Amino acid sequence: MLDKNHALVVLSGGQDSTTCLFWAKQRFERVSAITFRYGQKHAQEVDIAHEMAAIANVPIREVDAGFIPQLCSGCSLTDSAIEMDREKPAEAPPNTFVPGRNLFFLSMAAVHAREIDAMHLVTGVSQTDFSGYPDCRDSFIRSLNVSLNLGMDEQFVIHTPLMWLDKTATWAMADRLGVFSLVRERTLTCYNGIPGDGCGHCPACKLRRHGLETYLNERENLKACH
Ligand code: ZN
Repeated sequence: MLDKNHALVVLSGGQDSTTCLFWAKQRFERVSAITFRYGQKHAQEVDIAHEMAAIANVPIREVDAGFIPQLCSGCSLTDSAIEMDREKPAEAPPNTFVPGRNLFFLSMAAVHAREIDAMHLVTGVSQTDFSGYPDCRDSFIRSLNVSLNLGMDEQFVIHTPLMWLDKTATWAMADRLGVFSLVRERTLTCYNGIPGDGCGHCPACKLRRHGLETYLNERENLKACH
């Protein structure tokens, strides 16, 4: 029997999933985390996921998803011979797209959630900063939720607290949750594997920094008004 007060967070050690971890902590009585090692170039993110889970005081399960690179080639996140796209190509998803990644992650998370009796699954996907990843879209998540429930005869609820938020609003959420500095200084979003403010020039860093600067400006303006 699934526990309606228990949530399992898919945690990568990045800004979005770490913010979701603390969102879940505020919302559910029990929180657990799951992280995946899938041949990513920057396996350091797995260590950061463990660190974030320890800080949040939640148990974390690390799962080997090393089969993913065996299924497909040509993705810069797992193939160190390929340079990551500096800019998003006009057509086609960027080469940082790992086909089916969220499909696999959420399906595996659901199997583990059933094992630990967690009714809720939490993922940091967002379609607002949609960068060509089809498995970050709301329609996909809803469809998968139905499929998982049918496939396992359970009543999982997938939560996507960031789905309609841009990066500025995600920083605001981290601040409201009291983890702004932690997220800013310790999480890893950079495609070049540099935690915190990152390398500054990859697409992930540009997006993150733009949101951060906008949020800090807004916060300053608010302070000035009070
Ligand atoms: Zn970077």
